Amino acid sequence: MAGAPLSGLCALCASADRDIIQSQSLALLNRDQACGIDFSVCRTCGHIQQWPPVAPDLMAHHYRSFATYEEFGDAPRLRAAPPSRHAARFLKLATEIGLSAGRAYEVGCASGAMLHQFRSRGWQVQGCDPSPSAISQAAAIFGIDADLGDEESALPRQRDLDLILACHVLEHLYDPHAALARFHAALAHGGHLILEVPCATTPERLPPGWFTFEHLHYYQSGVLEGLLSDAGFEVVQTRIDTVSEHYPVMAIAARKFQDKPQDKLQVRRHRDPAAGLHLAHSYAARDKLLWTATSLRLACVQEPVFLYGAGIHTAQLLDHTGIASNVIAIADRDSKKWGQTQA
Ligand SMILES: [Zn+2]
Repeated sequence: MAGAPLSGLCALCASADRDIIQSQSLALLNRDQACGIDFSVCRTCGHIQQWPPVAPDLMAHHYRSFATYEEFGDAPRLRAAPPSRHAARFLKLATEIGLSAGRAYEVGCASGAMLHQFRSRGWQVQGCDPSPSAISQAAAIFGIDADLGDEESALPRQRDLDLILACHVLEHLYDPHAALARFHAALAHGGHLILEVPCATTPERLPPGWFTFEHLHYYQSGVLEGLLSDAGFEVVQTRIDTVSEHYPVMAIAARKFQDKPQDKLQVRRHRDPAAGLHLAHSYAARDKLLWTATSLRLACVQEPVFLYGAGIHTAQLLDHTGIASNVIAIADRDSKKWGQTQA
């Protein structure tokens, strides 16, 4: 299965049979050419994904320029802040499944705010993140020494971890099978993984613009549980929360229960292409209607427009509506974006 995501096959089952459900053309920072992306559903396993995914070098450009996941505010205030909504969900899940403090490692730890919360509850904490600015902030704000790099480079150096945390990470990874195998190898026997991803659920609950540049995967609960089971994990708890964020999220706590991941053929047991196809097509139809309504509203605007926020959702707005010709400037609080060009 390794290599399937970039070879034009389904990232989960390596099938070549897909329905394209939405295409986007996105204006990135400092790129003359818009980036075309197809979002598809696999007709064999039902998994919804970018297919083929955005090229890795373009994605790396995006993480350097657009999405840097930094904290804003002064250090003493950030240290004293209560857990974020995400961290609170992770802490609650860890408590409710009865975990006692041990060695925790967060994949994609950003500036270390969640690790800071786990450490205050007795955990020894470490983490990794591919963003140099986030790693500097983790050290400067929280005194957390995180590894610079993604899970692929950092996790193989870890062994016998009691807990791996992955908050909104798995939807960004090109090869989830390979990543989960690395998570499995880095955990102690009986160690736990807690992860959270956007949840592909009832289309009425999903916001406009839900298919986005940096999300390669759109997990349905059955698909993700099957993926974990195939990787040698036992799902302990699955929670779908449709109210706390502006899109549904799914948190799963899973326990390493086997020394070796199962044969990949087991994936077939979890396949439910009809559910995935129905969900993907219903959402795409709804998203199209929502953007049409937005476009009609914006068509009445004659005055010059000042946009707040240089990012992927602005790129979607420019793609789906005719507002671009009225825009005179875009503002953003992130000084790294100042002076750059979008579209
Ligand atoms: Zn598939």
